[in-house]
Amino acid sequence: MTRVVLLNPGPVMTADEVREALAGPDLCHREADFGDLLARVRHELTDLCGGTGSHGTVVLTSSGTGAVEAAVASAVPPDGVVLTLENGHYGERMRQIAQSHGIPVRRFEVPWGRPLDARDVAARLAAEPQVTHVTLVHHETSTAMLNDLPGIARVVADAGRSLVVDAVSSVGCEEVDVAAHGVDWLAGTSNKCLEGMPGLSFVTARADLLDALDGRPGRGYTVDLGRHHRAQARAGVPAFTPAVPTFYALEVALRRLRTETVAGRRARYGRLADLLRDGLAERGFAVHLDPAERASSLTSLDLPPGLGYAELHAGLRARGYVVYASQEHLRDQAFRVATMGTLTEDEVRAFLAALDEVVAATPRTGPRHERERRHTGPSHAVAPVAP
Ligand SMILES: *Cc1c(COP(=O)(O)O)cnc(C)c1O
Repeated sequence: MTRVVLLNPGPVMTADEVREALAGPDLCHREADFGDLLARVRHELTDLCGGTGSHGTVVLTSSGTGAVEAAVASAVPPDGVVLTLENGHYGERMRQIAQSHGIPVRRFEVPWGRPLDARDVAARLAAEPQVTHVTLVHHETSTAMLNDLPGIARVVADAGRSLVVDAVSSVGCEEVDVAAHGVDWLAGTSNKCLEGMPGLSFVTARADLLDALDGRPGRGYTVDLGRHHRAQARAGVPAFTPAVPTFYALEVALRRLRTETVAGRRARYGRLADLLRDGLAERGFAVHLDPAERASSLTSLDLPPGLGYAELHAGLRARGYVVYASQEHLRDQAFRVATMGTLTEDEVRAFLAALDEVVAATPRTGPRHERERRHTGPSHAVAPVAP
């Protein structure tokens, strides 16, 4: 297969040493060597999330959604009620996960791409004393919006409720500190901002809450965190066969992240995103959200006038670049470009040049002024012109 430049929000392009670690030795997961590796990775993840001394981590062989499901299904006791904060696809997914386990749900909805206001969440919690848990997506990847984790975590804690966070596309890059923010349950994955391989996810949760799972019937079987926690933390072995080589890769990826630091990675992704967004703005593309609301690792923008996503994707793919479709109602009007992984500034510049080519190669349908009208915002330069 030829190498392509991945501009999708995971799985990301990885460092050679991370990929090469996959070729480590065949190993039985019930041997002490694997137990030691599991313990090291769990501790490193807890530390990365700011939970050393207060939280513990359970690693799962699953995609990120598996960790979100395990967190939601395990956090909420049989008599619990969840308030789901929804401003995009992944917020809705957390609600669907809760509903799939028969958990009673109250919804706090704002339109996609609008911020969740912590004061409104506080008011809602005051009005709904039966709510025990709140779900929040940190980086809402469907719109590229970074939600206000510290502000919302504060009002949830002040109201005496428990917070479950989907940090799948933020941990490793955005600021995540479970102890400082007061996050009880947090789900993450290995193949987005951690720059590891797909196949592993994790839940970092308050240690006393993980211990309290012992006395309680779990929801589901493979997503029952009590079962995984007892196996991993007490017996020192995984409950089921894990993706052993992916653990090798994750350990290397975590070592690289420790060297770079989360702030360093955020700055690097931010530089890539600035380069991309400046280039897009110069070309008249409408980049979504206020700058302060944007995640460092992902950009959501309008499709160019007269060019559908399938055509755009195919043109870019033929030139070696993979962009990402938007979801649901945004599918026909927007697309996404990630600045995650080992992407370089040169690759961002070359992507912008490839984008110019694809736009220039598009046969124009309507009159030009109509196409330009679709380019929103008064500050935008003229739309790219066909040769
Ligand atoms: C990518 C993503 C997921 C889903 O991860 P999978 O590994 O595809 O299951 C969940 N939540 C958020 C916020 C994501 O960005």
